[in-house]
Amino acid sequence: MRNQQTLASTITCSGVGLHSGQSATITLRPAPPDTGVVFVSRQGDVDAYLPVSIEHRIPTELCTAISGGGFQVQTIEHLLAALAGLHVDNVFIDVTASEVPVMDGSAAPFVRLVQAAGIAPQDRKQPFLKIMSPIEVTDGSKRVRIEPSPTPRITYSIHYEHPLIKTQTYEYDCSVGAFESEIAEARTFGFLQEVQALWARGLGKGGTLDNTVVLSGDGIVNDSGLRFNDEFVRHKILDLIGDFSLLGMSFIGHIMADRSGHALHTRLVQQILKQPEKWVLLNADPIAEGTRPISHRSRFQPAVELQAAS
Ligand SMILES: [Zn+2]
Repeated sequence: MRNQQTLASTITCSGVGLHSGQSATITLRPAPPDTGVVFVSRQGDVDAYLPVSIEHRIPTELCTAISGGGFQVQTIEHLLAALAGLHVDNVFIDVTASEVPVMDGSAAPFVRLVQAAGIAPQDRKQPFLKIMSPIEVTDGSKRVRIEPSPTPRITYSIHYEHPLIKTQTYEYDCSVGAFESEIAEARTFGFLQEVQALWARGLGKGGTLDNTVVLSGDGIVNDSGLRFNDEFVRHKILDLIGDFSLLGMSFIGHIMADRSGHALHTRLVQQILKQPEKWVLLNADPIAEGTRPISHRSRFQPAVELQAAS
């Protein structure tokens, strides 16, 4: 069990959105205990707040997006993965556009950003959702489940008829060190035909070989090569970590994913919150626990409350 953490200082980065191609700036700011991760958009003279929470997720095909408070933000998963992977629990993220910059297609630039800002411990225990019984969601051959485990773990498998992938399985122990050295650097990938089809539909406007690993028939198009032989499955773990931020708190359990993706990851988060008989909360604020059906910090914090507090 650990204390909650925020950033030690404010820091900014800019880039283009993978899908919109729009240039965007994000500013990460320290936030008080129990804030969670909250996007902030300047709307005229006032700040609008959008907490990272499953109830704000909107259906999107290729990325994870949330909407509320009069604005939406898409492709949030790699930034959220960096925050979750480094155990940064409370942060305000000011956005100037409706998409988080893609940077190099991995979480590494966001890790460096957080490290430059510094991480500050806070005087409050971090709540954990501890899984007591398995919960599973499936879609055809795609599957993701969470089982009881003494410590958080993620095991992911992918299978593609491509000589560089075939079957890849990776297990991640949810430690900060392993996130930094094994997961954060893994980049987004796509198949050449799919990427070309996206471009033809006017999507993926910000996608380049500098932020996407593009697979051709028997290799990759990028001259720079791969960062890991199993970079693909490591990136799927990165996406899953980011998507699980929508739970709004840390988990203790073993997530096992097979051929999964954003839609199924977020369905598992929904199913977990719908089945409170299958988990217990550790370190949750007793007042919050008593007055709220599920002690999910940001989820039940109305925008006005946050506005008044800031
Ligand atoms: Zn991704």
